[in-house]
Amino acid sequence: MYVMRWNGEQCPGNPCRFIRNIQNAMNSAHWQSQERLQKWNKDRDKINWSLFQDYLNYESKPLQRSTNPKESYMKSFKIKLFLDELPMMENMYKRNKKKYKSDICQRCLKNVETNNHWIEYQDNEVSKYRLIYDMVSKILIKVNNFTEHKVQELTGILNKNKDKEDHEIKPLAGIMTKIAKREVNALGKEIKGKRNFCCYVLHKMNKNLNKHIWKRRCIYIAAISDELIQEKTESEQQETREENINEKRKEVIDRTYRKMDI
Ligand SMILES: [Zn+2]
Repeated sequence: MYVMRWNGEQCPGNPCRFIRNIQNAMNSAHWQSQERLQKWNKDRDKINWSLFQDYLNYESKPLQRSTNPKESYMKSFKIKLFLDELPMMENMYKRNKKKYKSDICQRCLKNVETNNHWIEYQDNEVSKYRLIYDMVSKILIKVNNFTEHKVQELTGILNKNKDKEDHEIKPLAGIMTKIAKREVNALGKEIKGKRNFCCYVLHKMNKNLNKHIWKRRCIYIAAISDELIQEKTESEQQETREENINEKRKEVIDRTYRKMDI
């Protein structure tokens, strides 16, 4: 008579059921170790989801029977930024490894182009801090509530990735906790007609991020890929070719920025 053994021990009960149980345990372990789930579970109940919904629908009327391309564009940008699904090199490469040869950033040719990378890229027209600082100043000047101290305080909150109680927040993607929202709203207390000051600020910040950083990055990538593909086909010596490419890159960057400034 044969007896089924597992790691030197005799298997209990029905072998068929035993195998099925092991399979189930393995699948469940695999499912729970997925990175995406870990990312989502963390501090999820602390996040202010109703604020997130208001932020997504800011300036748009989701129940209306008509659409507006501008609204739809901003909403899709917000959602893709939140889900890490913007068409940056990291994602393009993951989707189609035949078409995209690597996930390296096409501007600096050094690092993988992730959300953090394109937002904090050193040659961006404005830094992330400056972007938020200018936006906050503009808003506070507009509503006659400007003091340097207030601007710095608000910029400080929006630049962090933790709130007062150490819960994770992501202001650029519209993810705030109740505490962080209260802090922001406290700074906009005197503003008439802006009950949800925090939502307004988050929307403006995202709009500026799109206009000053993401759009420029996209125009640059479109320009550079056309010009550099031609470069690659020529069989010059490696070093001189790379020098040429670098010069060309600078040219394209300058031209892109001029185009955006008009
Ligand atoms: Zn880069």
